[in-house]
Amino acid sequence: MHGYDLLVVGSANADLVIGVDRRPAAGETVLGSDLATHPGGKGANQAVAAARLGARTALLARVGDDAHGRLLGDSLRAAGVDTAGILTGGAPTGVALITVDPSGDNSIVVSPGANSRLSPADVRAAGSLFRAARVVSAQLEIPLETVVETVRSLAPGSRFVLNPSPPRPLPAEVLAACDPLIVNEHEARVVLGDLAGPEPEDWARELLALGPRSVVVTLGARGALVADADGTARIPAVRVAAVDTTGAGDAFTAALAWRLGLGEPPAVAAAYAARVGAAAVTKEGAQVSFPTAEEVDAL
Ligand code: ADP
Repeated sequence: MHGYDLLVVGSANADLVIGVDRRPAAGETVLGSDLATHPGGKGANQAVAAARLGARTALLARVGDDAHGRLLGDSLRAAGVDTAGILTGGAPTGVALITVDPSGDNSIVVSPGANSRLSPADVRAAGSLFRAARVVSAQLEIPLETVVETVRSLAPGSRFVLNPSPPRPLPAEVLAACDPLIVNEHEARVVLGDLAGPEPEDWARELLALGPRSVVVTLGARGALVADADGTARIPAVRVAAVDTTGAGDAFTAALAWRLGLGEPPAVAAAYAARVGAAAVTKEGAQVSFPTAEEVDAL
């Protein structure tokens, strides 16, 4: 019996956002708007997205013993995420310092903080979460050695989903466990070292040759592509008026991981995830923009 539809192993950050007329140059001070503090980080985003859809979700992450850590715990619990796997201490909570100008261009400094202290030993100590999880998903805002230990800790029969963001080349052991590996064009480029062919179908084929059991390429407003040994399928995007694409990839990945775990065929699960991604771009923000199952059905 699986207690969790999805276990997310990943990051939790506080996003500190200030609007500015002009982003500061070296040595310059500019005045900005009131500070907005949002819960973020790809791990927390995926966990919130899945829980809002109704998936029984747990997050294994590390935050600091500080106000940002408490803010993240509160927002995860409010979304329905099981926070028993959230570890505290070692460094301050991860922070993204974001300045945004009126054209929407931003400058971001990330301090990984406690995320960089989520260790292989933390993964080994979370055996009960792994044994209870149907699907485990990860990203790369935590140490790669922790992702390697995550793959080694998978319970028999559970599925592993990876969005390699921010991207870097991946060890064969991690690639072989992915079902699917979920990438956008930039991530595909970095994981492959280069893109040999011009089309997403080419990238999917090249990625499959690296060992994952399946690959999903996300293409923003052009939808997605699902590929495995049986072939490839294009998943069209749902047409919506895009307001803010922040977090769309996280919402897509969480929804796809959950639905695959329920046993849906990849193309069916990806079509559902595309609706979740589309719903997420119709609202400002990341976690606050993630839809409930009712909102997805209404789309
Ligand atoms: P990432 O943020 O990781 O680059 P994408 O931008 O490709 O990911 O978004 C993930 C998925 O969300 C897409 O495959 C698509 O299904 C959906 N999506 C993203 N942007 C839009 C959009 N403008 N309109 C409709 N769907 C979108």
